[in-house]
Amino acid sequence: MKFPQGGTYRILCDHVWSGADGATEALSIRVTDGVVTERLPLSAVPSADASESLLDLRGLALLSPLMDTHVHVYMNPWPLAPSARVDPGSEGFSIELEAALARLREAHAAGVGLLRDLGDPFEINLAAANLTSGDSSLPRLLAAGAACFKEGRYGRFLGKPARDLSSLLDAIRDAASDPRVHLIKLIPTGIINFKKGMVTTTPQFTAEEFSPAVALAHDLGKKVAAHCSGEEGVRLAAEAGVDFIEHGYFVSRGTLDLMAKKDLVWTPTFAPVHAQWRHFDTCGWDTETRDHLRRILDAHAESLRYARSIGVRLMAGSDAGGVGISHGGGVRLELSLMQEAGIPPLDLLQMATRQGPLWTGALPARVFPACGAPADFIAVDGSVLSDVRKLSGLRLVARDGRIQEARKPLMEADANAATYGIPAARTQPVSENA
Ligand SMILES: [Zn+2]
Repeated sequence: MKFPQGGTYRILCDHVWSGADGATEALSIRVTDGVVTERLPLSAVPSADASESLLDLRGLALLSPLMDTHVHVYMNPWPLAPSARVDPGSEGFSIELEAALARLREAHAAGVGLLRDLGDPFEINLAAANLTSGDSSLPRLLAAGAACFKEGRYGRFLGKPARDLSSLLDAIRDAASDPRVHLIKLIPTGIINFKKGMVTTTPQFTAEEFSPAVALAHDLGKKVAAHCSGEEGVRLAAEAGVDFIEHGYFVSRGTLDLMAKKDLVWTPTFAPVHAQWRHFDTCGWDTETRDHLRRILDAHAESLRYARSIGVRLMAGSDAGGVGISHGGGVRLELSLMQEAGIPPLDLLQMATRQGPLWTGALPARVFPACGAPADFIAVDGSVLSDVRKLSGLRLVARDGRIQEARKPLMEADANAATYGIPAARTQPVSENA
């Protein structure tokens, strides 16, 4: 298909979804220099204007691009086999940055128009966020820079260590002074011990360390996302008043009640644990561990249903860059898993196209297809509003009016990875994932 390049063009589409409810509209949308400049009912299209190219998308659904609220652009999701992986970020900075940009291109072509990077020790995410800000061939990117973890504990693949409260507060002051840093990422807990099927370590920060850290970030005008799993650590993060709870495996109903009361936002990240379960053999697990993984996922789905029933705000983040989770395919998998857990598809699409961007502070004042909004959209063949798995019918993606043909996202051990510009597989040891 040939696309209008710049200037003014008009889109004709009979299924434009504005994100409000289940209804779509038949619209004629004029785009001028990357911005929506007119929106008319399709039946009221003025007679053809020779200065406008026409883009006939009738038969497709047109909606805003998806957001993945939890990714790591510097991590390579492959290979799955622990013995074949090496540490992320092992090459020089410029090589790693190029690889991160390739992953962002993969995400963009798969309809992910906005990503939030929650930590890398080399701050490749900040350099990438800078480059994506003015480049409409790439998706938009928010980044936390390096996360903070407790020296000697979990987190060296996500950020930098803090020895004590004073170095933790210094790290937050430092991060907040960098205009590229969108939010502060803290790591109050380790990760799930898959072999034992639980979180086996105590939180790495005490409340006396963690609460002042969160308060300082807020004083400096930054929101805080906390990597946490295990009831004790999730509770600690919620009580300290972080803005975003990431993962939250093994959270209790009582803590979910507190999260609802404090109006916190939860990104449950089903995808990375699901990948370990689905590919347990290649990931090096025995059947006993596989059964733990299944039990953990089922309990997490139950927590998700409860959270939704009491009004906890939810976002879709895939932990892309984690083993087996690509930056383009991750959020689709995450949405499918949340749909499988019982969240209605319409809620999920609102989450991924409206609430995620709004709650992370990325939503522009006007949103497609409103007049004055950036012409950021995706075109899907299929009834995606009734089933998020229909995102597999993605045809076109656009940022600032620049349209490109969609590509199937890379997922799992995709044999075609190299053809998408993704370098040969290298990633982190499995114990550092999720
Ligand atoms: Zn993560």
